[in-house]
Amino acid sequence: MSDASAQAAVCWQPEIERMDREALEQLQLERLEATLTRVYRTLPFYRQRLDAAGVDPDAVRSVEDLRRVPFTTKEDLRASYPYGLFAVPLRDVVRLHASSGTTGLATVVGYTRNDLRHWGSAVARVLVAGGVTREDVVQVAFHYGLFTGGFGLHQGAELVGASVIPMSSGHSRQQLRIMQDYRTTALACTPSYAMHLADELLEAGVPRGALSLRLGLFGGEPWSEGLRRQLEEKLQISATDNYGLSEVLGPGVAGECGEKRGLHLAEDHLLAELVDPVSGAPARPGAVGELVLTTLTKEAFPLLRYRTGDLTTLTTERCACGRTLARMGRVLGRTDDLLIVKGVKVYPSQIEAVLVALEGADPHYQIVLTRRASMDEATVLVEVSEAIFFDEMRRQSGLRETIARRLAEELGVHVAVRLVERKSLDRGDGKAARVVDRRGA
Ligand SMILES: [Zn+2]
Repeated sequence: MSDASAQAAVCWQPEIERMDREALEQLQLERLEATLTRVYRTLPFYRQRLDAAGVDPDAVRSVEDLRRVPFTTKEDLRASYPYGLFAVPLRDVVRLHASSGTTGLATVVGYTRNDLRHWGSAVARVLVAGGVTREDVVQVAFHYGLFTGGFGLHQGAELVGASVIPMSSGHSRQQLRIMQDYRTTALACTPSYAMHLADELLEAGVPRGALSLRLGLFGGEPWSEGLRRQLEEKLQISATDNYGLSEVLGPGVAGECGEKRGLHLAEDHLLAELVDPVSGAPARPGAVGELVLTTLTKEAFPLLRYRTGDLTTLTTERCACGRTLARMGRVLGRTDDLLIVKGVKVYPSQIEAVLVALEGADPHYQIVLTRRASMDEATVLVEVSEAIFFDEMRRQSGLRETIARRLAEELGVHVAVRLVERKSLDRGDGKAARVVDRRGA
């Protein structure tokens, strides 16, 4: 075991994180039965759904039985806006968050005092698994607000006993100033924002030795192994991936340990299934599928078989860190991010994987979709260094052709490539907008 993994093997809640799997699955079933009974009694939405499907909530005694319960979708949540799926009266709700709805109404999520307690400890597990201790100074550069990222990481880091800097996102130069002056040791943000900060650091000419940074806790969007290597090298940190979604909890749903071979799920708080995104049938063992989550302890906003839209893998194989909690793989993309270009399935993460492996191209990219003669076409915009952007045309077109060739090899379809100046693509204040759809234009 390496030093890093020996350290990561420290658990925040070892009695849960290393629980015997049989006992854990028993605990899940008991909580599932209680959840079903409760939502059936309190929420007309679920009562109608279960009745229509002919499911007696008292007869669900296994995960196989649960498969008869219909899925809950993002559309269901939108249709219940704002409080239609709250299972407790509003006076018992002590916090409200909303999911980042880019289209239509956002989804409102409520938390009771117990929900907040569980959420905090789930995030604390993720942070401790990523190497955070009470000695750390944690700079939370996730957005604070209705989005769950900022507050989620914040409460977990406080629980661990670390010194928390509630920076929120944006104001990059100030982030870097504070990172130096306050001697930040752990940075929590999206991987694309971390990359942006790393670039700014380089540009500002700050020597890496001026920072105390040692850990990166990154989540909120899919990213690749290649990007991890770049971030670890540029910032000289150990970077771990964590996963969450506000509908289910926020950050804390799952997080990597020092082994960095999958994200341990908070299985005492949720039950995870993997389904074929098209048929809805259970995914074949080891295959990529859509993650479906049922909450087991949520009081204010319980969810049955919620389709996350995130594509990943699942394993219950024992991890070298000693945790018995199942692991999900990196999120490979979203079911709704899946692009069909000339009939070929393309995920944005595949494009990122090609770019991070190429000299001269930055992993800041955007995919623009257009439609010509009823055919979808994709153009990949890639930021390149100033040296290349203002260099002679020959070198520029050489790089463009290399990128186009490598993308064609990886994707199995030709996409156009355009090189753009550094920082010309929108990096938002956290989540990068990877796909711009102009097919309707
Ligand atoms: Zn592990």
